[in-house]
Amino acid sequence: MITRICISINNRCNLNCKYCHFHEKSAFIEPREMNIFAVLDNVKAHIKKHEIPLFKIGFVGNGEPLLDFESLRGYVEYIADYLKSGVISAYTITNGTLINEEMLGFFREHKINVGFSIDGVREIHNKLRCNSFDRTMNGIELFRKINGFYPSMNCTVGQDVLERADETIDFFAPFDSRITFSRMIGENGISLADFRAFLERASRKLSVRTGGFDCTMYGGKCGAGIDNPYFANGSVFICGNCVDLPTVISADTPLDEIDLGIKPFDRRFCYKEAMR
Ligand code: SF4
Ligand code: SF4
Repeated sequence: MITRICISINNRCNLNCKYCHFHEKSAFIEPREMNIFAVLDNVKAHIKKHEIPLFKIGFVGNGEPLLDFESLRGYVEYIADYLKSGVISAYTITNGTLINEEMLGFFREHKINVGFSIDGVREIHNKLRCNSFDRTMNGIELFRKINGFYPSMNCTVGQDVLERADETIDFFAPFDSRITFSRMIGENGISLADFRAFLERASRKLSVRTGGFDCTMYGGKCGAGIDNPYFANGSVFICGNCVDLPTVISADTPLDEIDLGIKPFDRRFCYKEAMR
């Protein structure tokens, strides 16, 4: 049964990170209409039908959500009662360059968890993420000022990070927050074995997210088709990395009727990579 989803609220970003697979897949993510309120209505009906005590929504996807903060505000307000009662927990992930006190106050009021994408060591971050290190760190410090603690952070692990693994791990240690490392994929990607070795090393010093049936990119097993479908551009996909796989499922389909047609496979490996 579906108990979590991700919703991509837009298809644009103010950065152009070197490894961004959404840009690689730009042909598949042309902006198309998606009624996100209809998706949220389906979530509400699904929660009611199955008496789900906790449903998770990630407002994450093909771009920088804070570029469309006013839209995001509307979606959050639409589920405000559920957020208040704790039946829905929601999060977003930002590159941190646009965030301000008003946004952070709004997220705090509605219990929205805000994660920041930062690739650790300044030189690595700047090389891969458009020289945005200082702007992202300013956003992270602003978060701490408003909330009294540092946010969760997301770091993409590619060859640069592997070569400066200890420095990267030491960078994150002082924040004392949960770090999600994700494996760089695509043409500059690293192997699953190298990524798992890095995660093992990082776990000795940091609170590192690992998962059950979630995604091998984050150190878990592939959850393709089990839970957490990805809503973008009017359709439902296996995950954000699979937007170039064909789908005929419309985003306004009731959650119980979503069948992504995944045949049994070895979930220690990425479904998409295993199909190649
Ligand atoms: S901030 Fe995220 S969505 Fe934007 S270019 Fe970088 S990786 Fe892609
Ligand atoms: S198909 Fe690959 S990228 Fe998608 S959830 Fe599975 S492991 Fe992650």
